Amino acid sequence: MVCATMNWKHTSLTRSGVIVPARILNGNAIRDETYAELKQEIAALGAAGIRPGLAAVLVGENPASQIYVRSKIAACEQLGLGSWLNAPPSTATTDELLALIAELNARDEVDGILVQLPLPPQVDSKRVLEAVDPAKDVDGFHPVNLGRLVSGRAGLVACTPAGCMEILRRSGIPIAGANAVVVGRSDIVGKPMALLLMHANATVTICHSKTRDLPGVVRRGDIVVAAIGRAAMVEPDWVRPGATVIDVGINRITDAGEAQRIFASLPAKLAQFREKGFVLVGDVHPAVAEVAGAITPVPGGVGPLTIAMLMSNTVKAAGLRRAGAIPTDAVARNAGVAAAKP
Ligand code: NAP
Repeated sequence: MVCATMNWKHTSLTRSGVIVPARILNGNAIRDETYAELKQEIAALGAAGIRPGLAAVLVGENPASQIYVRSKIAACEQLGLGSWLNAPPSTATTDELLALIAELNARDEVDGILVQLPLPPQVDSKRVLEAVDPAKDVDGFHPVNLGRLVSGRAGLVACTPAGCMEILRRSGIPIAGANAVVVGRSDIVGKPMALLLMHANATVTICHSKTRDLPGVVRRGDIVVAAIGRAAMVEPDWVRPGATVIDVGINRITDAGEAQRIFASLPAKLAQFREKGFVLVGDVHPAVAEVAGAITPVPGGVGPLTIAMLMSNTVKAAGLRRAGAIPTDAVARNAGVAAAKP
């Protein structure tokens, strides 16, 4: 289960003079492992006459949202899941979206409903998200599913934190007893991440913009999860040598000076910047790879797992709602709560 992720990269000396190989936790390889298992679960449901299906709601024409939704639909097609794109105009009202959600809730062949955020400012996003049937809430944003997560019961868990857990587990990173530091406390990443780590028996510290001595707190982490939304913010000297670093951030750098500062020692990235006019960087400085024991790259780390967990949640939702049974692997995958307790 672990081998596909075992890519090793030799890096420079640590301050103690010991050469440490930073292990690159390859999200694409872990996604492929996950898909291979999912295909078996999808086939088993297919044998029972059930084809899991995902309905996406994409309001307006936000280019980033369009790319995200397109890649989610492509993943459905790759796995043979049903998919439907509902694309109301950017002028859609809360009532119109509530009517659309009610229709999707009522359709039996729709197992998962994905409302792509952000919604336009005139829409009451909370009301729309809370209108989704919790049994079809494959994003794991509904208060019922959040409540299940808090109380350690199986449910549909937010995809990005579930994907981070998948990376840790499949890479054999010890979680029980570890000091885990989560930087960021958003409802969709930081908070559920901290809960999942706690249920997996880590000792968890949650940091945010008011945390005092952030570098000092991060340095205590055996596992560090950065979900901040600030390019290359976590510096090498914030990270304990040998720690595992999960970089959730995706930041687009378009300023040549900033690219030069961040990627000074990575000519390939600078060449990419010159060619495309932008380059992606996480919330963790690339030089952290010289200190960490294991690290997720950006891109190709957490991102692929976010989509994989959306697929997994859709299969799981279909199994729970329509087959009256949960595919075993799906429970282990992104429930990850009750199973982790001793
Ligand atoms: P968010 O809602 O903006 O939350 C950011 C969090 O970081 C907040 O809790 C904030 O603290 C904290 N923060 C901001 N500046 C800080 C500072 N200077 N020091 C300490 N903490 C600070 O962001 P999000 O939705 O969680 O996303 C975080 C990042 O992950 C973004 O880069 C996003 O693009 C990326 N993301 C990636 C994926 C993926 O699939 N890879 C999925 C989702 C998100 P306060 O609460 O105090 O304001």
